[in-house]
Amino acid sequence: MPIEVPQAILDALTRVDMPALPESPAISESITIDSVHLPILRTGVLIIGSGAAGLRAAVEANRAGLEVTVATMSPFGGTSACSGSDKQTLHTAGTSNRGDNFVRLASDIGAGGAMDLDQAYVEAVGSIGAFAGLQYLGLPLPTDRFGAVLRYQTDHDDVGRATSCGPRTSRLMVKVLAEEALRLGIPIRRRCEAVQLIIAADGACLGCIAVDREAGAASNPHGLCVLLAGATVLATGGPGELYRDSVYPRHCYGSLGMAIEAGVAVCNLTESQFGIGTRRQEFPWNLSGTYVQVVPRVFSRDGAGVEREFLMDWYRTPREAASNVFRKGYQWPFHASRMLGFGSSLVDLAIHHESRLGRTVCLDFTRNPTGWTLDQLDDDARSYLANNEALLATPIERLRRMNPLAIELYRMHGSDIAREPLPFNVNNQHMNGGVEVDTWGRSSIPGLYALGEVAGTHGVTRPGGAALNAGQVMGVRVARHLAQQRPQRPEVPLVTVQAAARAALAIARGGQASALTLRDEIQARMSDYAGFICPVGEIAGAKAAAVGLRSRVLASGIAVTPERSAEAFRWRHQALLSEAVLTALDAYVQSGGGSRGARAYCDPSGTKVPEARSVDCAAWRFREERPEHRREKLTLRWHGAFSLTRTPLRGMEDPARIFFEKNWAPYLTGAVYGDGFAH
Ligand SMILES: Cc1cc2nc3c(=O)[nH]c(=O)nc-3n(C[C@H](O)[C@H](O)[C@H](O)COP(=O)(O)OP(=O)(O)OC[C@H]3O[C@@H](n4cnc5c(N)ncnc54)[C@H](O)[C@@H]3O)c2cc1C
Repeated sequence: MPIEVPQAILDALTRVDMPALPESPAISESITIDSVHLPILRTGVLIIGSGAAGLRAAVEANRAGLEVTVATMSPFGGTSACSGSDKQTLHTAGTSNRGDNFVRLASDIGAGGAMDLDQAYVEAVGSIGAFAGLQYLGLPLPTDRFGAVLRYQTDHDDVGRATSCGPRTSRLMVKVLAEEALRLGIPIRRRCEAVQLIIAADGACLGCIAVDREAGAASNPHGLCVLLAGATVLATGGPGELYRDSVYPRHCYGSLGMAIEAGVAVCNLTESQFGIGTRRQEFPWNLSGTYVQVVPRVFSRDGAGVEREFLMDWYRTPREAASNVFRKGYQWPFHASRMLGFGSSLVDLAIHHESRLGRTVCLDFTRNPTGWTLDQLDDDARSYLANNEALLATPIERLRRMNPLAIELYRMHGSDIAREPLPFNVNNQHMNGGVEVDTWGRSSIPGLYALGEVAGTHGVTRPGGAALNAGQVMGVRVARHLAQQRPQRPEVPLVTVQAAARAALAIARGGQASALTLRDEIQARMSDYAGFICPVGEIAGAKAAAVGLRSRVLASGIAVTPERSAEAFRWRHQALLSEAVLTALDAYVQSGGGSRGARAYCDPSGTKVPEARSVDCAAWRFREERPEHRREKLTLRWHGAFSLTRTPLRGMEDPARIFFEKNWAPYLTGAVYGDGFAH
């Protein structure tokens, strides 16, 4: 008999309360620029961002005896604290049954190409320790009665290395890490947004200028302050505000634009992840796993209220349509090749098409697709439901049986999916590219590290759950590297600080452009020309428009009031980032780049075209990927204009050639920390 899970247990896993953080400590030192008094804080290590990645680095660095300060725009904002899916996934080496093979896991992590081989291996071997640390801190990872963690199969995962605490795995990770940070007494500046990196004449990072709403005073109306650090760590997450169609929570800007403006090398900006989810206008959430494995009815509604089950225009039979809706559960991210042969990404294309016709697309859990019955499912789908004792009459009954938390989650956010349809879309969900780093998280600028989503380590595709794993593994590694370097509070000549602070003050005082108009223009351009359906012929035009917008913004500034001064930086940086992404896309397609990962590059001279039952798919004829592009990363640097280089992937020695005695000395002498950028 299936066990009914009591409501109190469901509540505890969905309504995750976060610990209260104390007020930010007062700052005593200051500098005066044009009669404005800017507080100056000095610290050994400055961690910017308090998502799962940043907090892991903070906790580990503090435990290594370093002085750490966390500065965050919103302590429990960002994707770790606010995003999820039906079972939000953490992907690590398999720990049940016969264990795992790290070389194979590394090859699976980097399978989509454009991922350094050493980085993939680091994430594979580091996953066990990073995972154990979370268990030690009390993350409620489910186990069987023997202690083996329960696992399942997720996107790009043939083995079944995924696990989950429910819809809010990453929020629970943030919770246990924040509790640990509080126990360790790590100061967290709670309303402190980094807006400009401070780079010394010798090219090293000295910290940042921030807008700190708890450091402001009458003599500092813009809230600017100076954070000086022996080492600075970017852990600011992804740029969710870059796209109109986005499943990120609101106010995710990341810091890629800020890093680019400072001259940091960034890579793989062509690579992102897109998939189905509920919209930011309501409650942004991924619709993966059981949400679709229960085969809800998919329909669209036009302005007059007319409903259409449009998937039947695309698939040949109700069985084929239903089985592909089911498969989106573990083939969640869009992939061009899965549009072929009536595969599961044809669902995404159909939704995209329907939305472009001005119709709202919805999932209906109260009814099965019209004309379909449970016996019309392919064997893989049917046996999954049978194994989970979920061959029940309606989608909502099947969902209640397999994952009641998934229902609870929407109820908590105002949608009762047991009664009403759920509007959704195909959205941008993850930035795979970002700051180029070595396997210790060091960027191209000495003294600056990056980890989590802001780091460009994620390759073209990634198994579901690998993003959270990467942030944890790199949190540990960045802290280890810092522990070896032992960064101290910097003694910085005030003249360097003055120049940076003066430049920031000029931006904070505002200019001409409207932030709202800028937002709308940038987001629309990115969703329409750099989305998962990417029209090759229109990328160059979109790039030219982005260059024009960025030059206007840099020249004339953004109109803001003093209390909203951070907006002047946010949209300046998003304008620069949008140009960077379009520059990378343009260079990629100019060199013959074809469809991979999240994007279908549509081109009338492409070699592949999706087929549909009664829809003409000629407009979505697409280019195929060239194999050589899998073996390199596209790296960009800004110095008033973008320069591009193609970097071959880093390789690594055969792990079978690593032996204890041979490799002990490099560990004991610290030589193991030496790879990466030659600083
Ligand atoms: C809907 C959805 C579902 C997902 N599901 C999964 C999944 O199942 N498995 C998986 O592995 N990944 C998943 N991801 C991706 C994963 O959640 C993120 O990659 C990961 O949480 C990023 O963690 P992070 O610590 O790098 O950044 P975040 O958690 O976004 O944290 C960033 C922090 O930085 C702060 N910040 C931002 N800018 C600044 C600034 N300028 N100054 C100061 N602070 C700043 C923010 O306030 C926040 O505290 C999902 C993402 C989404 C959107």
